[in-house]
Amino acid sequence: MDRDNQLKEAPSSLVDPFGRTIDYLRLSVTDRCNLRCTYCMAEDMTFLPRQQILSLEELRDLALAFVELGIKKIRLTGGEPLVRRDIIKLVRSISNINGLEEITMTTNGMLLPKMAQQLRQAGLARLNISVDSLKPTKFREMTRNGDLSLWYEGIVAAKKANFTKIKLNAVVLAGFNDDEVIDLAHFAVSNEMDISFIEEMPLGSMSTHDRSKTQVSSANIREKLETKFHLIDSVETTGGPSRYSNVVGSTSKIGFISPMSNNFCESCNRVRMTAEGRLLLCLGNEHSADLRSVMRSHPGDQDLLKNEISKALKSKPERHYFDPNKIDIVRFMNMTGG
Ligand code: SAM
Ligand code: SF4
Repeated sequence: MDRDNQLKEAPSSLVDPFGRTIDYLRLSVTDRCNLRCTYCMAEDMTFLPRQQILSLEELRDLALAFVELGIKKIRLTGGEPLVRRDIIKLVRSISNINGLEEITMTTNGMLLPKMAQQLRQAGLARLNISVDSLKPTKFREMTRNGDLSLWYEGIVAAKKANFTKIKLNAVVLAGFNDDEVIDLAHFAVSNEMDISFIEEMPLGSMSTHDRSKTQVSSANIREKLETKFHLIDSVETTGGPSRYSNVVGSTSKIGFISPMSNNFCESCNRVRMTAEGRLLLCLGNEHSADLRSVMRSHPGDQDLLKNEISKALKSKPERHYFDPNKIDIVRFMNMTGG
């Protein structure tokens, strides 16, 4: 088929071979980070050279192409998105795209004291802020260098900036922070925030712990929480491996993200872009398309870009199979875009 015919056939919505409509993009803006969480990356990381990372213009062109193809929600992530130079400019340019319903971000919160207000003003509606421990020593241990008091300052700044919603994210590891799930939930509820508890995924191998020994299932976390909170299942879903419960007597929700114990792949609605421009079709598989080379070989050709995205979607796998005893996926989470 010649290129003109291919372009005519590019669909205006993204539906994969299993009938799933993809309307959610996680866009990684950097692989770099100001922390080194033990479950996410090695202590001694080599980051990508800057020229391999997508430029601000390339990120905006990609976002536009995806929105024109039917993406409704974009989450900026990384690495740590707030260490990316000109991130505020990027938020502003993406939030102005017609047809995009929501732009959100996942951050470790360390730079929020300086940036929360500007992010809100640039159009960011919601924020996910990660935290795995409310004990300063444990926080430092799990992040390798994080300062919990700075994290608290970030929360105060985010609340002051009036985001429509703030959700906390905690990865739960047996023997590290599984004794804190109730305290973390209390913190969220008493500050009128939501919180999600995440099962650890075997992305990249770790020197600090054996992932097969630190697994804690969502069912186990929920059982602990139910000793203190009355949880009622919510019909709300964001697609993918998360399920939410309302905390009775509060405005908060508790989410259980269970990529290991229950992946809900049949309702997957998302794809991910890595910081170097690889479209990853599934977190637990390596199927991908190199969109950076498409953009760099044909700068400004948005039709071609959209066509390549639609074509790539045909290879979205039906599901993932994670096994904590095996590291099938060697890329770390900071490379993947969480
Ligand atoms: N730096 C930001 C942060 O920490 O929020 C955004 C990127 S981080 C990779 C996104 C999310 O992925 C965080 O909530 C983090 O806790 C989670 N994460 C990192 N490695 C993980 C792993 N191996 N399994 C499950 N979740 C992980
Ligand atoms: Fe950085 Fe986020 Fe990974 Fe922690 S989880 S090392 S904050 S990218």
